[in-house]
Parts: sequence; structure tokens; C-alpha cells
Amino acid sequence: SSQATFAQKKKSTSVKPPLTAAQIETKVEDLLKQMTLEEKVGQMAQITLDVIGKGDNRFASFEPFALDDKMTDALVHYKIGSVLNTANNRARTPQVWNDIVSKIQDVAMKNRLKIPVLYGVDAIHGTTYTVGATMFPQQIAQAASRNRELVRKGAEITAYETRASSIPWTFSPVLDLGADPRFPRQWEGFGEDPYIGSEMGVQMVKGYEGQDNTVGDYDKVASCMKHFLGYGAPTSGKDRTPAFIPDDVLREYHLPAFKAAIEAGSHSIMINSGIINNIPVHSNYNLLTKLLKEELGFKGLVVTDWGDIENLHRRDHIAKDDKEAIMLAINAGIDMSMIPYQYETFCNGLVELVKEGKVKQERIDDAVRRILKVKYALNLFDKPVTDSKDYPKFGSKEFEAASYQMASEAITLLKNDGNVLPLSKQAKVLVTGPNANSMRTLNGGWTYSWQGEKVEEFASKYNTILEAVQTKVGAANVNYVPGVSYKMDGKYYEEAADKMDEAAEAAKNADVVILCLGENSYTEKPGDLQDLNISDLQIELAKKVAAAGKPVILVLNEGRPRLISRFEPLMKAVVQTYLPGNFGGDALASILFGDINPSGKLPYTYPRYANATIPYFHKLSEEQTKAEGVYNYEADFNPQYQFGFGLSYTTFNYANLKLNKTAITNSDELQVSIDVTNTGSREGKEVVQLFTSDLFASTTPDVKRLRRFEKLSLKPGETKTITFTLTVKDLAFVNHEGVWTTEDGDFDLMIGDQKVKFNVINGNKL
Ligand code: BGC
Repeated sequence: SSQATFAQKKKSTSVKPPLTAAQIETKVEDLLKQMTLEEKVGQMAQITLDVIGKGDNRFASFEPFALDDKMTDALVHYKIGSVLNTANNRARTPQVWNDIVSKIQDVAMKNRLKIPVLYGVDAIHGTTYTVGATMFPQQIAQAASRNRELVRKGAEITAYETRASSIPWTFSPVLDLGADPRFPRQWEGFGEDPYIGSEMGVQMVKGYEGQDNTVGDYDKVASCMKHFLGYGAPTSGKDRTPAFIPDDVLREYHLPAFKAAIEAGSHSIMINSGIINNIPVHSNYNLLTKLLKEELGFKGLVVTDWGDIENLHRRDHIAKDDKEAIMLAINAGIDMSMIPYQYETFCNGLVELVKEGKVKQERIDDAVRRILKVKYALNLFDKPVTDSKDYPKFGSKEFEAASYQMASEAITLLKNDGNVLPLSKQAKVLVTGPNANSMRTLNGGWTYSWQGEKVEEFASKYNTILEAVQTKVGAANVNYVPGVSYKMDGKYYEEAADKMDEAAEAAKNADVVILCLGENSYTEKPGDLQDLNISDLQIELAKKVAAAGKPVILVLNEGRPRLISRFEPLMKAVVQTYLPGNFGGDALASILFGDINPSGKLPYTYPRYANATIPYFHKLSEEQTKAEGVYNYEADFNPQYQFGFGLSYTTFNYANLKLNKTAITNSDELQVSIDVTNTGSREGKEVVQLFTSDLFASTTPDVKRLRRFEKLSLKPGETKTITFTLTVKDLAFVNHEGVWTTEDGDFDLMIGDQKVKFNVINGNKL
């Protein structure tokens, strides 16, 4: 289909087809030969539309957009190679984007060597900075869908709409392991499991870049994997604070998603802003050059995160001034500096460093090669801007349907006592809670603005949970009392009681209460948390409405699992929506009232207690062991809901778990098959999840690890046999010497409630 689209466009705009890898290489080398040191260094700098004009609101009106002196200076005198983000942190129409990028490219293309600017934006769950584009559920929800196809489709649509906005580069996917619910960016990634992260990350890269990564088709964009490496695991749980991660842990849990996405051909990577083992990642030669560029063979472009070269001096104090910080970062392997504040310091400083022999010319050439390669691959020299008129499917019903479907398959049913759900459409409903009537909370951050706070301005045509419920059952059957409200102009966590007693009273007159709790939207440090519990006010509201004695359906709308154990027993049903996007309200209402059968599965462990936030792949000593002859230390792994959990309105039975052999060697394949039957009375989707446990190993093994998953659709009474193939490699762990290995011995293999044993012979010679 991308071929057809391209062919059509080629006819209408006489655009040249994408270059081959060999052509790109020749062109890059030709250009590099002609470049001065200053021109090369300019390519390595990225400025932002916003911050250059900090404080003076230079682009306040923005339409029509005009380059001012500062921007022109950066492009003409410093020959800056890249620009990111949007002015005043606000979404624009595709036409305005075309205009902005055109004006920037016009100036850049008048420079001596006519090198286009590489424009990048955070289109992380849809083209979130373009008005009218299709918004998708955030990645954490996409992981819950366990639907690879939908993840790829979402990224394809995002690529199309981002390119329609003349932007060819997105800072997505987020591949950070989300095993700590305190981390304020957990929702940006695919959750706690390295295998899901790898599988979904690959789909996203392919969706953005195309099956063969031919990003020169004008409906594709370059992807940017982030944030390499270990970003999601700061010790304090707070964003951009130090992490201590041993090398084997880094490799076994944090690296696989990046490795898989690199192998899938992603064109760029962004670096972790934090410090690991006392070394800021931006100055870590071992991680950036030895591991990333040499061992993993990454050939794409390495960009810093926000101001992170300056941070080496100003925040992390490992460089005595900005110039030393530049030296450390570039020598560690950084190719492009995201420099919001001082591009002059960066460019002048780096030129001096090369002249002083402190940064080698070859290092500069390596960086510039990588940058130019991406620009040629994107076909930017031929056509640095697109015309939004060439993108008729932008914001179409077809695209919106894909977002709705993703939300429908992501939303996860966690509790359904006495099958209280689905609800009758005749029921008299009370809708309450701070998340009941807000598009901002459905969408989360990076939506029309960094913190998602401008969402109401652009998303009013979509349905909040309340509006979707009203559409489903008729407004006359729905009573709405907020109970608690977020202060939409304050800090994300500021809340106030809002007719709480009225809500409690209204519950008495309703047949059922839909209680919508969770979090307001937030991004990065502003989302740092002091307490993992859901807020006191929200707990109070839950208890008050439950006291009326009517069934309460708890709807969670949150970026990370906030603790609900203090009131969960009072709830008849619990539904997790994550951050489901513009169609999340509609999808939820369809699930609550039975038009859609839920099929999402938790992409993380939902903790019950603040001091028990371990992931599913913990050690046996973290569980209450019932093994004979073992002293019971009263360890207690007792999460609110297990990783991988999610209910349906139908029931599934697993039977006939079979292996083609009981022992495998390193040259064998293990074929695993199982029959899954829909034993209920309605059609449903089930995620078949295969776990293995390594029973004994030279480093203490995890209790279990997810190795395969597949989503099936089954009619009532229907049985499907599903077959998985495993090799010895799939069972490997990183040993204390940092080496991937599978040791000989016994394994358990689990699917659903079925379990078999097999063993590995001769495995460790991987
Ligand atoms: C974030 C990145 C983002 C960048 C550009 C940083 O603050 O950490 O994820 O891509 O800003 O907006």
C-alpha cells in the first residue's frame, strides 16, 4: 500500500523515489568532502522553536509564521542541522506546520551546500502536535492490547499524518522498561516485560519506517528509540535521578527492546538523561560507543535528550564548564546535541575542541555521516517539505477507527464480581469522579501540549467518559456529580472536593455507580510522586458512594498503577483504561454496556502496597515459599493484580498442552501446542501467554518469564490450536560475566493453567 501511495504521489508531484542504501552512501561521502568544519559542527546542533525566544513570546501569533533574526542567525551563520518541537508548546494545523517548516527549509536550502534541516517532534501516540490528527492510546495501553498488528497500524497512521505536517522525524518509540510504578513516565513505554517491549517496539519502528525502512516514501518518518539506556529505573522513582543498575541487569532487562528495534532498522536513538552507576549516560563511552555503536552495530544517529550536554556541567558536575561537557559527550559517542539554550556555545566550543585536538576529526565525520544519512534516507534534499493537500486520509474516519479499536482492545477488566458487567442500557447511572468528564485525563501528556493541558481546546469534539455513557444509554438515564475535581490550571496533582456529599446522595437514587478515578495528565518531572496511593480525596469519594449500597464500577484512568487496596473491596468491578486517547471514552462505554467484550491484559504488575512494587519476574525469595523444608520468611508477593491478568465476558479453557520433545539442544526447536476453547456464550479475544521457569541456574533464576504471546479471536464453542516455537536462545539469561547463556537443566513451561516440564541439554554453547 505504501508503494501505491508513493506511486500516486510521484505522478502528481514528480518526486524522485527513495534512494538505495548504496546511493545514500555515495551522496553522503560526496557531501562530507565539501564541508568545512563549521558546516559539519552546525549539522550536529539542534535548536528548538520555543526556547530560542524564551520569555518574549516571539511566536505568539505564529500564523503567519515569520523567521526572526535569532532563528535566521542560527540557520544562516551557524548552519544548524536540526530543529525540534513547536512554538509556545501548542498544536498547529497541518497547513501552519507546512508553512513553518517551509520557511525554515527555505533559509537552510539557500546555504552554500543546500542541506535541509531535519525537523523532529514528539509524535508519541499519534501526531499529537497537529490539530485534527488521529490520537492513539498511549504506549502503555497499546501494550495491554497485546495486538501487534494494531500497534503497527497506529504507527503507520502516525507516520502519514506527521509527514503530512512536513515533519519527517518522531521521537518515538519509548523502549524504557516500565517496571517501577513510581516512575512518572511509565505510561510512555510498553510496561514491565522486556519481551513485550521488544515485540511492540519492533512493530512501532516498522509502522513508522515501513517494512523495509524506506523512509524516503513520503508517508513514512524516521523513528527514534528512547531513552538509551536504563531510563525507567531511577532508585528514587523520580525522573532524571540516579539509577544503580548492574551490567547483567542492564543487558537482560533494559537492552532487549533496543536491540530488537535496532535490528528492525530504526534510524535514530535518544539518550537517557539520567545517571547510571554514577556516570551520566551522556558521557558514557562504554554505553554509547562500545555497546551501542560497536557491539550492537547501530549505524543511525545518536541524539541527546533536552539540554543534556549542558547538564554534564551544570547539573551533574562532571565537567567544569560547558566546553568540557561538549568534549565528554561528543567523545562518548553523541552525534547531535539537543540544545535548547546555547547553540552558539555548542558550535563555537566544538570547533575549538577539534582545533585543539581534543575531539578528533574522525569523530565529527562519523557524527555528520550518520546525520546526513538520515536526511538522504528521508529524501529531504529532494523535497524538504510536503503539502498537506497530498494527504487525503489525514484525520479520516478510517484512521479514527484504528484508534477506537486500539482503545477497545487495551481496556482491561480486572474485577467483575457476580458478573455485574456488562450493565443494562436501561440502568439509571450515576457517573462521578475527577476523571469522568475530562479529555485531558483520557489522553495524558504529549497531547496538543507537553503536559496535555491544552487538550480541552482541541479535543472537545470527542467524548469524555460521561459523554460516551450518555450517548450509550441516553442522557436522561445519566446523573453526573463530579465529587472530586482536578484543578486544571494548577499542578497535575492538585484536587478539590466538588459536591462530594451530593455524589454520595445521588448514589442512593442510582441503579449503578460508574466511579472514574485516577490521575490528571502529567509528563516527566512534574509527574514525580510522593505517594503511590490514589489520593485521599478520591478514596473518600469511593467510600462515600459505596456506602449507598449500589454496585460501584471503578474505572481507572491513570498513567501508572496507583494503589487502590484501601477501598477496592467495596468495588463490584474494576476496569483499567490506562490513557486510552480520544476514543477511550467511547470504547469504555461500549465495554461497560456490553457492545464490546474486553480483551486487554495488564502490561505491568498492579501492586497492592507501596512497599511491594516488584515485577512479575522477581525471585522466589520475594514470594511466600511453600516448599518443603524451607524456612518461611513470610515474604509476600501479593499484588492487587498479576502481570498479564485481564478478564473477559466469556470464558476460555486451555487443554492439551503438548511439546514435540521433552529435551532440546542448542540446534533444536521446541514446538509447543495448546488448544484454547471459548466455553462461554459470546465471542471473545484471548491472549495466549507462554511463560517459562528456569528451575536451577548459576545466577538465581526469575520465578518465570514471558516468552511468547498471541491474541486469538474465538466464537462461542470454538477451539483453536495454537503453536509456538522456542529455541534454546529464547530461554537465555545474562550470567554474572555479562554473557547471554542457557544452562542445561529442567524448565517448567506454563500456558494458562497448564504446565509441562522439559529440559535443555548442551544449551550453554549459544
Ligand atoms: C524528553 C524526551 C523528548 C524531548 C524533546 C525531553 O524532555 O525527555 O522524551 O523527546 O524532551 O521534546
